[in-house]
Amino acid sequence: MARYTGSVCRLCRREGTKLFLKGERCFSGKCAVSVRPTPPGQHGQARQRKMSEYGIQLREKQKCRRAYGVLEAQFHRYYQRATNMKGITGENLLQLLERRLDNVIYRVGLAASRPQARQLVCHGHVLVDGHKVDIPSFLVKAGQVITIRERSREQEHFKVLREGSGRIIPKWLTFDAENLTVSVAALPAREDVDLSIQEHLIVELYSR
Ligand code: SF4
Repeated sequence: MARYTGSVCRLCRREGTKLFLKGERCFSGKCAVSVRPTPPGQHGQARQRKMSEYGIQLREKQKCRRAYGVLEAQFHRYYQRATNMKGITGENLLQLLERRLDNVIYRVGLAASRPQARQLVCHGHVLVDGHKVDIPSFLVKAGQVITIRERSREQEHFKVLREGSGRIIPKWLTFDAENLTVSVAALPAREDVDLSIQEHLIVELYSR
């Protein structure tokens, strides 16, 4: 499947905000958004023109899509699914994105970033209700239990995590660090999203 293979820091600079795609580096003084807070490219430092309404909506959609590591077509499918769900479309969209398996792995601290979480899932380290799931876009449901495969637990990456990830765990998930087990207590609510996203702008964009 096609995926973005360029510099991820470039994406943050384009959106003008931290998307936390590189783990620890994002919290250090080396973060590209802190060092060069201008859009990437030859004319990035030129004075920015006032953005149109469409431009603002587009940037919000791109920010959300890039933060969760979703390609355009798939993101649009999430939106269509969100419109068919009961409730507020924008909140439904964010809920679907939060329920992705790679996002759950990241949110509890089993990975330093969403791209790393995606890799852990693709490499078959993750079990859902005891079955291997290697699809990062797998949507978790309330009541499911996510664990790390037995033979992967001895890897240095997971051994360190047994001492605790230090991450603030969202209230819809519970994390047992000793057993590397995540339980999905409920579906995520709007306030559980840790990114600053104005989802109504995304809905307005797709409603044009
Ligand atoms: Fe974005 Fe992290 Fe790179 Fe900073 S270090 S620009 S937050 S990916």
